Amino acid sequence: MNKAIAFDEHTRLPAIGQGTWYMGEEAARRREEVAALRAGLDAGLTLIDTAEMYADGGAEEVVGEALRGRRDDAFLVSKLYPWNAGETDAIDACERSLRRLGTDRLDLYLLHWRGNVPLEETVRAMETLQQQGKILRWGVSNFDVDDLQELLEEPGGARCATNQVLYHLASRGIEFDLLPVCQQHQMPVMAYCPLAQAGRLRQALFSNETLVEIAQQKGISVAQLLLAWVIRKEGVMAIPKASSQAHVKENAAALQIRLSDDELARINQAFPPPQHKMALDIV
Ligand code: NDP
Repeated sequence: MNKAIAFDEHTRLPAIGQGTWYMGEEAARRREEVAALRAGLDAGLTLIDTAEMYADGGAEEVVGEALRGRRDDAFLVSKLYPWNAGETDAIDACERSLRRLGTDRLDLYLLHWRGNVPLEETVRAMETLQQQGKILRWGVSNFDVDDLQELLEEPGGARCATNQVLYHLASRGIEFDLLPVCQQHQMPVMAYCPLAQAGRLRQALFSNETLVEIAQQKGISVAQLLLAWVIRKEGVMAIPKASSQAHVKENAAALQIRLSDDELARINQAFPPPQHKMALDIV
């Protein structure tokens, strides 16, 4: 059975979605990116995460093209820059995103990271957008425990629908305190960079002896193992970005992978869980 998470009272979503950072950067790749997103929707990866930041709006245009004629198939998430999070700027930023996405509403709108606009003002802006029907929910991203607690104390702050943060096997800091706080407030966590993006860290994970061995024993790829590991926890979903249909299909199949206690224990030995507070990693 596909792993799902309760996003709110009325909404269950597959625990793996689709990221879009670096999409829309090159015209030559656009067809492949649109096809990958559509293949992802077909395979059940219905949450699509984008942002006004990605390719300066270009990623939202790619998503808009992928959603043409099938908007209702997706749970659409976008994010606004912190400097656009003021009361009037947020309305303008959201309308620009909606235009690029070719839709009249976002399922979820996130503050990309905390900036100088007071949280109270951003919450008011989000609620105005909600009343106007331009967004159905709002949330935050890159909020560590202190920021989140401050938000929860603001009027309406507890209506924050999610916290999108970096989480992968080589960065487990959130397990110490942020994840328990989110769980306590029934706030789903959206794990970004679940495959550790690119570079040395990713290489270290993909060539790690324990992970390679477990993946081989289960007949899955290391990428699938990493995704299955991220979504093993209640209330955590992963949003890997894949720009090829082959990767998308592989990622969707990870929704069905379960890890045994023994496999989890071996993984814990290779990548120990945090024993103390660690500052939230960001990219
Ligand atoms: P990911 O950890 O998702 O890694 C993406 C890389 O993994 C790409 O190179 C992709 O290749 C590759 N990949 C995807 N599937 C597979 C697979 N099955 N096997 C092998 N390689 C695979 O990094 P991202 O930084 O993209 O993070 C995911 C998403 O999270 C972003 O796209 C964005 O939407 C969001 N995000 C949010 C942030 C925030 O501040 N809120 C910050 C960073 C990301 P290919 O493209 O060739 O398929």
